[in-house]
Amino acid sequence: MSDLTQLGVKDIRDGVRAGDFTAREVADSFNAAVAGAAALNAFIVTTPDHALAAADKVDAARAAGSELGAMAGVPIGMKDLFATDGVQTTAASHILEGFIPRYESTVSQKLWDAGAGMLGKLNLDQFAMGSSNETSYFGNVASPWKKAGSNAAMSPGGSSGGSSSAVAARLAPAATGTDTGGSIRQPAAFTGICGIKPTYGRCSRWGVVAFASSLDQAGPMARSVEDCAIMLGAMAGFDPKDSTSLQLPVPDWEAALNADLRGKKVGIPREYRMDGTDQAILDSWEQGKEWLRDAGAEIVDVSLPHTKYALPAYYIVAPAEASSNLARYDGVRYGLRDLPDGSGLQDMYAATRAAGFGDEVKRRILIGTYVLSAGFYDAYYTQAQKVRALVARDFERAFQDCDVILAPTTPTASFPLGSMNEDPLTMYLNDVFAVPASLAGLPAMSVPAMLNEHGLPLGLQLVGKPFDEQGVLNAGLAIQQRAGFVAKPEKWW
Ligand code: GLN
Repeated sequence: MSDLTQLGVKDIRDGVRAGDFTAREVADSFNAAVAGAAALNAFIVTTPDHALAAADKVDAARAAGSELGAMAGVPIGMKDLFATDGVQTTAASHILEGFIPRYESTVSQKLWDAGAGMLGKLNLDQFAMGSSNETSYFGNVASPWKKAGSNAAMSPGGSSGGSSSAVAARLAPAATGTDTGGSIRQPAAFTGICGIKPTYGRCSRWGVVAFASSLDQAGPMARSVEDCAIMLGAMAGFDPKDSTSLQLPVPDWEAALNADLRGKKVGIPREYRMDGTDQAILDSWEQGKEWLRDAGAEIVDVSLPHTKYALPAYYIVAPAEASSNLARYDGVRYGLRDLPDGSGLQDMYAATRAAGFGDEVKRRILIGTYVLSAGFYDAYYTQAQKVRALVARDFERAFQDCDVILAPTTPTASFPLGSMNEDPLTMYLNDVFAVPASLAGLPAMSVPAMLNEHGLPLGLQLVGKPFDEQGVLNAGLAIQQRAGFVAKPEKWW
């Protein structure tokens, strides 16, 4: 039998349905790949038995002639930000080490209901704060990609870096990600895979460890646009347990995929031509325009005048919400408790939080607390909220002239682990193209375009109107068909 780990979601689902192989054979193959890839450090815990049990259920259902779900027989990786019943859930933090939820997040439950199984919990930046996967308490994640002629371990992006690394390395056909300010799209771009952040509210946040609640969205990461469409369909849907959940039916995105873009207008935002963007990225953007034109689209210039204020506004809004969300980790309810001898409640809070949070998380809590403090609230937080509204209005106006926006996903390709640590600001700049769509709550996807001169993947980003995941997926498909991106990382792990 050929190597099943080379297959994606659609091929596994169809193969299991057709009886070409069993779900158990698929789970066995991926479990073995995961077990052999410790060097990537993509998983915090592995759950081979979960994957096998789900597979056996699918094989039994097929034998009984029952209908199979959209993800039947597909084992996936679960970002360790989703609460999983009976399986440690840490958000890659020390403070949640040993926390075993007695409940399942809505999104993961939906995936299990659709017939998927879990290979393990994927590493990430601590509390999803980061762009390189270097802030995890459980160690850095390495990308399977290397720069030509160098042996340095490269960043898989962040915060969903365990997800991107695992999917690019064929340890999983797909994985969940979450995106607050780029954490699905940037790691997807760094590792040559696809990832879509749907419209805010499409996927329930219930049971997902909160970072910045008004921005957090779950989404799929996989190696093709089709696979993303299938998996997003299984993840999305109204959830009464999430007050910001969208009360809208979930379209059949897979069935409506269509790469014919005749009659569609693709907007090119002129403010995304920023200093510091690699020439190769600008070239890939030009190439992307050509591909979409070839698919029948008309290319038009659009303006998003407040783009340069989006990143600073994000780094006020997101830490503000994080400082409030993370107040719950106090040593009383979850995970770590540090109670120094003879000390009281306040000491326990302080000791637990000092020991339990990493530096980046503390930095965000400090920034967030500062911008929300009585003296500075209006100067920072209120101002940032106004900027957020202006960024959203820019998109609204641009979408009067176009159907979908094409931009780079990141200003650079992946970088070596450890190379960006001196200055948090350079790290924050990684998300300069991703954050505007997050602030506006819009669906946005990264699709692999090409390799740069060092053999590293580059991604192109598509941003759509609210609820128009289909438009984003269709333009993504048009790029995928023309880019013909088949490059794979060479196995070294
Ligand atoms: N890199 C960004 C941050 O650190 C985005 C993270 C995310 O989307 N979760 O805030």
